[in-house]
Amino acid sequence: MSDPYPIPGTYFPCGQCGSSLRFSPGTKKLVCPHCGYENPIADPAEPIRESDFHQALEKLSLAPGKSATPQIQCHTCGARFRLRKSLHAGHCPFCGSPVIIATARLRPIPPRSLLPFSIDRSAARQAFRKWLKSLWFAPSALKRFAREEGLLSGLYLPYWTFDSHTETSYRGARGILYYETRPVTVIENGRPVRRLQQVQKIRWHPVRGRVSRFFDDVLVGASHTIPRQILDRLGPWDLENLVPYNEKYLSGFESEVYQTELAQGFEQARRVMDRIIDQDIRFDIGCDLQQIHRKHTRHLHTTFKHCLLPVWIAAYRYRNRSYRVVINGRSGKVQGQRPYSYLKILVAVVAAVAVVSGTGYVVYKSGLVRNMQTQTDNGMYGRYPELAK
Ligand SMILES: [Zn+2]
Ligand SMILES: [Zn+2]
Repeated sequence: MSDPYPIPGTYFPCGQCGSSLRFSPGTKKLVCPHCGYENPIADPAEPIRESDFHQALEKLSLAPGKSATPQIQCHTCGARFRLRKSLHAGHCPFCGSPVIIATARLRPIPPRSLLPFSIDRSAARQAFRKWLKSLWFAPSALKRFAREEGLLSGLYLPYWTFDSHTETSYRGARGILYYETRPVTVIENGRPVRRLQQVQKIRWHPVRGRVSRFFDDVLVGASHTIPRQILDRLGPWDLENLVPYNEKYLSGFESEVYQTELAQGFEQARRVMDRIIDQDIRFDIGCDLQQIHRKHTRHLHTTFKHCLLPVWIAAYRYRNRSYRVVINGRSGKVQGQRPYSYLKILVAVVAAVAVVSGTGYVVYKSGLVRNMQTQTDNGMYGRYPELAK
């Protein structure tokens, strides 16, 4: 299906040869891949502002629904194409030229800030290879694969960050441990004997109280492309270095619009905050043990930012399965999916069992087990039933 009026994507033409400039990671420059012409990127001096969460929700309720991915006309080769769903920056599939479309065409909330890539493709590839080589129980073929070229693409992922002042009132109980001495019957040398024993007890006292905490930049991934267990482990991110959103940093990379809505994003952030508030309450209750029966948290002046964070994605296939590895585009930290060599695991398990049972045999031979069993067990010989005789 072809739109009557495809939109021109944004691009940054080279002042010398006219081809598309690309952002060069680790610098503040756009560089021409053909003639080497460089063009500095100037960040505006304005600070990155937080937006009010509730006002934004109200505005969203009035905003029109999502529009379909628009058709784009390439400024270099004239081809018409659509970017992959959820992308607003990428490449022309026919000539590879970078192209960017305004996020407003796809989502009502625009990103206001981003962290530019600071590690380039070759550094990302090195991090990926190092990671592959470090894997325990990886098939040997995979380590050989590390020397070959894999597919590596640079992608900006959408995130929400939330700030919130919280006040929580709670009811619970404080547990104090104490000991009681009471007579018990134990079996000694096969005969029942009366002994005095210390028994631990808990005395619970009802408590109520209040805790408050300010949360700063609770980060929630808003992409559905990368599995959450990988996304959540990619941090930490140096959010203090966010720069105002500028499409120049996107040129030559792919960039996604958010797929987790603002309200859902806050729900996820709230679960993170709740776990920390529970720790605060337990600390507030103090003493040996704590129970939280009920709590009510008020979020005062909740604000959010929508930002883009850079990752390199390496995709590789091994034995007809594809695996995805994600590299933090700022720190080089690697998180990914990987195959295991079951043969290597089996060999290691057999070796470990041999060591353990070898030790067991020596201990048994030395008579240590025999003595330990008679001293500690009350007629139970779980591991060595033959010793019970
Ligand atoms: Zn040029
Ligand atoms: Zn093109």
